[in-house]
Order: sequence, then structure tokens, then C-alpha cells
Amino acid sequence: MDDCIFCQIGQTQADTHLYSDERCFVIRDIAPSAPTHLLVIPRQHVTSLQAADPAQEVLLSHLITIAEQMARQEQVHQSGYRLVINQGRDAGQGVDHLHLHVLGGKQLPPLG
Ligand code: 5GP
Ligand code: ZN
Repeated sequence: MDDCIFCQIGQTQADTHLYSDERCFVIRDIAPSAPTHLLVIPRQHVTSLQAADPAQEVLLSHLITIAEQMARQEQVHQSGYRLVINQGRDAGQGVDHLHLHVLGGKQLPPLG
């Protein structure tokens, strides 16, 4: 997808990748809402969680596995962290390429 910012970052900005493999890469969010705010992004252009098909179940679990590894690398695994996927308008999804937020490094606001 030529006009997708995350596809572009995946293909051209390897120097910004904190982690990379054949299925996903990890970058820091450009507008962090916590001291640790990472994005785990599949290389495949899947527009959203809803658009992921059952064949991508393994990919989804891989994203979570990498998020946990990154939390360890960022030293927030003991203090705690939050994983977030925004799906669609009401969640405020701003980039139409599936991604997993990893948030930590401070007391995060309660969800309820
Ligand atoms: P969403 O709201 O779609 O769940 O999250 C999109 C996230 O991507 C936002 O937190 C936003 O700050 C981040 N973002 C958007 N464009 C860029 C970019 O060009 N580089 C980086 N590193 N993050 C971006
Ligand atoms: Zn994309």
C-alpha cells in the first residue's frame, strides 16, 4: 500500500525499528502518551483487527508475543504496561493499518 504510512515506515525506515522480523516491526510512537509508547506493526497491510481473517490468527498472537518481549526490553514488564488495539471510529483509530500499542512507564489512567 503506497499511501500507507506504516507500510512506508516498514519498507524504508529500518533505522527507526526497535525490533524487526519477517512478520512485524516495532517503532516508537511519534506522539507518545506514556514514557514507553511503542507500536507493534505487522508487515502485511491489514487495515484493522476486524479485517484480519482467521488465517492471520498466528500473526495476531505473534504481535502480542513481540509486545511482551518489547515491554521486557523497555524495562516496564515489572511495573506493568497496557496493550491496546484501536478498532474503528469510536476507538479513534487514526492509521488504517493494524497495530498494537504498548504503553507503560507511568501509572496509566483507569479504563472505567
Ligand atoms: P491509532 O490511533 O490508529 O490506534 O494509533 C496510531 C498511532 O500512530 C498514533 O498514536 C500516532 O501518534 C502514531 N503515528 C502516526 N503517524 C506516525 C508516524 O509517522 N510515525 C510514528 N512513529 N508514529 C505515528
Ligand atoms: Zn499499510
